[in-house]
Amino acid sequence: MLTRSELPENPVVLALAGEDGRPLPVEVERVRGGLVRMRCGCGENAAQGWCRHQVELLCLRYDRVLGRDPELEFQLEDIVMGTPLADLADELDLAAAEHAQAWKALEACRGAAERHPGAVAERAADLADAARRLDVAVARFRKRLAAADAAQ
Ligand SMILES: [Zn+2]
Repeated sequence: MLTRSELPENPVVLALAGEDGRPLPVEVERVRGGLVRMRCGCGENAAQGWCRHQVELLCLRYDRVLGRDPELEFQLEDIVMGTPLADLADELDLAAAEHAQAWKALEACRGAAERHPGAVAERAADLADAARRLDVAVARFRKRLAAADAAQ
């Protein structure tokens, strides 16, 4: 992980495609103590203190980035790679995928609910576990983001 003073560009701003089709600038900045501050102006972020745009960028997924620029992507990677926030984003991303998968599995056995209640109970228990893991992952991610917001 590069230190803050070694970063060639800090902060960087990437424009993502917003839900309404308008560009959504996301600012990413390394602050003291290896913390990463990320500002996104989307409604999801305002409502819940984090958003999928942050997670996507921290997981180095650029599908939503407008006018892609490899140089800017390298600069972003220098800022986020190896940081605890990037690790937490990976955890959250995995937990969200497992949660979605558990929902699908439960829905898939809905038609057999009367014949195989045991199977439904098992899938429901899997979903409950996945939801708890996701809840923990979100809480840890938000806490880390908030720590960077409070830093100078
Ligand atoms: Zn956002």
